[in-house]
Amino acid sequence: MMKNFVGASLGFLFFAATACGSGTGDKGKVTSANASADTTAAARPGATAAAVVDTAGLPGGKVPPPSVIMGRKEVPILCYHQIRDWKPTDSKTSKDYIMPPADMKAELKMLADSGYHTILPDQLYAYLTTGEALPSKPVMLTFDDTDEDQYTVAWPEMKKYGFRGVFFIMTVSLGKVPHYMTREQVKELSDAGNVIESHTWDHHNVRKYQGNDWVVQIDKPTKQLEAITGKPIRYFAYPFGLWNRPALPELRKRGFIAAFQLADKMDPTDPLMTIRRIIVGGGWSLKTFSTAIHRDFH
Ligand SMILES: [Zn+2]
Repeated sequence: MMKNFVGASLGFLFFAATACGSGTGDKGKVTSANASADTTAAARPGATAAAVVDTAGLPGGKVPPPSVIMGRKEVPILCYHQIRDWKPTDSKTSKDYIMPPADMKAELKMLADSGYHTILPDQLYAYLTTGEALPSKPVMLTFDDTDEDQYTVAWPEMKKYGFRGVFFIMTVSLGKVPHYMTREQVKELSDAGNVIESHTWDHHNVRKYQGNDWVVQIDKPTKQLEAITGKPIRYFAYPFGLWNRPALPELRKRGFIAAFQLADKMDPTDPLMTIRRIIVGGGWSLKTFSTAIHRDFH
């Protein structure tokens, strides 16, 4: 039973690893779907009151109105997937999600040489909700999909500069599939000061969840990651960057205080649950990398 279960997920993992951020075609759909959601909200201004979360004991305290959060300068948040050299069989699209190690090393060095400091989700949350000060030139490094090369290649390089990152883990692969991190590696990253957060069980699109999907994709991975790290799981990254408005209160109910999408617009009624990131494209020059950090975050 379990064997079939895991076997069935392997094909999906391959898909996830090569298509996490969704292609250009999908992206058009995201934008239009979110645009229509915005229209709905405009017609019902009180509709998101239920999204207010009990923040007692959380970093930053009380959540201010969305306009305050959206008025703060954005922190550049970078998203990486696989970190390995390209193979002849890699498609053009998949190369967007595959960062050659030499390029990643050069990017981290440039960030360090330019005076950037990595920040973690609790710092970002406190900054967005209370305006708490961040280190100069803040940047957040995030890693999706549990690829082992994040542990073997990116992490040793990050350590050189005192950088820490956020690893959004897809729990289906933990300890079961070659080229994905083990529980022990995840625990080691957590113990070393990185932050481990949730990226669902098997990368299923949040927009499609019904009934028990919320338990399988969200509740169980949270419990598993909390058991591995001994720390609370409060942040979430949407598979493919895809979200919709009904998912936001569902995630809040399940203990998440902020969630990360990709580069689409934040939801004007709940920006904390739609924080923006950019995928650093494999093959970008350092100049493109630097330009994107300045251009894509306002
Ligand atoms: Zn992903």
